[in-house]
Amino acid sequence: MGRQETIELFDRILERVRTLDPVNARKWFDDMTVVAFDRGQLEIGCPDTAKARYLRDNCLGVFAQAAQNVTGHLISIHFCRSEAADEAAPAGAFRVHPDYTFDNFVVGPCNRLAHASCVAVSQNPGNVYNPLFLYGNVGLGKTHLLHAVCHQAGGGLSIQFLSCEAFVNGFISAIEKGTLSEFQNQYRTVDMLIIDDVQFLREREQSQEEFFHTFNALYNNRRQIVLTADSAPGDMSAMEERLVSRFKWGLVARLDAPEYETRIAIVKKKASLWGVELVEGVAELIAEYIKTNIRELEGALTIVYATARTAGVPISPALARESLGVQEAFSSRPPAMGEIIAAVSEAFDIRVTELQSKKRSASIALPRQVCMYLGRIMTRHSLEEIGGHLGGRDHSTVLHACSKVEQMYKGDAQFRDRIDRLTAGITQRR
Ligand code: ADP
Ligand code: MG
Repeated sequence: MGRQETIELFDRILERVRTLDPVNARKWFDDMTVVAFDRGQLEIGCPDTAKARYLRDNCLGVFAQAAQNVTGHLISIHFCRSEAADEAAPAGAFRVHPDYTFDNFVVGPCNRLAHASCVAVSQNPGNVYNPLFLYGNVGLGKTHLLHAVCHQAGGGLSIQFLSCEAFVNGFISAIEKGTLSEFQNQYRTVDMLIIDDVQFLREREQSQEEFFHTFNALYNNRRQIVLTADSAPGDMSAMEERLVSRFKWGLVARLDAPEYETRIAIVKKKASLWGVELVEGVAELIAEYIKTNIRELEGALTIVYATARTAGVPISPALARESLGVQEAFSSRPPAMGEIIAAVSEAFDIRVTELQSKKRSASIALPRQVCMYLGRIMTRHSLEEIGGHLGGRDHSTVLHACSKVEQMYKGDAQFRDRIDRLTAGITQRR
């Protein structure tokens, strides 16, 4: 087979991969090349080591399947780093994810400090904030930032990056095997130690003790320490005080749930990373639908994309709404109007009976409109049904309320936060 033919064949395989597994496909797949295609073996060159590893971990099966679909033969796939690729890939045996770079991280008010401190630390390890301690709820970008630090600091630095669970397991197995000093050397002699999810140390006294000494050894030698957790150092129960106080020695940065604009930007960023085109309105719709967790935001985009890809149609707001709506029906029962009204009553400090009354004073009208809006976005009730729960308002009143609240939601950041907290509260309470 000639070179040109091989290239065309590979293009078709890539196209097939994108259809079979849109979620793991990436825009940078286009930068891959065929190194050799011979006797049932397809050797594919990748831009760098992290990407080759990503492909081996996530995509071997789907490439084999795609190659078989396209050629009609069994093909074995091999990913390698291409000749031209740079050698400056991050050091160390750990796996940095090619997606998790600073370039792919959207910065907003919710994560500005965490992002800035990670950039500073990766440019000047050991000298600016030590330790750097990031905390926040699940799915807000802590692990992503740690990978980004590795990508950035990479080069000649020796870095150990691992989950706290791996640290604890390694410690226990070193004790069992009598290899404790090797274990200790491995972590106490690096330039940078990055440990994800240190809340895992809770109630593990011996591991805390070990970590305490590791921390001191590194700190005293001005080696960089970066840690993450699900809560602030001071809020970690069952954690030794001397550790907690050390966590606070450097900089503690919190990650918050992303604001509406940031959520839109994240959806757009992920879409471009995946090589997906989004028409106007789709990112906005997804950003309104998912509010508190970026992993779920990505999950929603995945669902929309996969649905479009399977159906062979472009992604439109209508398709997005439909595919997410379907998903919602499977995953959870929507809240009852009563739950929404109760939550609004509490948040605005107004009695339920007032929300359901005919009173029109502004202090009651707005919360009532919020109830209607939430009813509209969180339940599958008709406008009439929603109006029925709020003192028998007709459908045009409810429609008007929804568009008014939506305008305020888009234009007023403080109001938006309030609504976001309300919806999160209603969802969580269930
Ligand atoms: P955590 O470790 O806090 O639970 P992760 O770092 O695993 O969260 O992030 C969850 C997902 O959300 C990842 O796929 C990550 O890329 C994405 N993500 C989080 N924050 C951002 C951001 N600011 N910009 C782009 N993607 C983000
Ligand atoms: Mg994480």
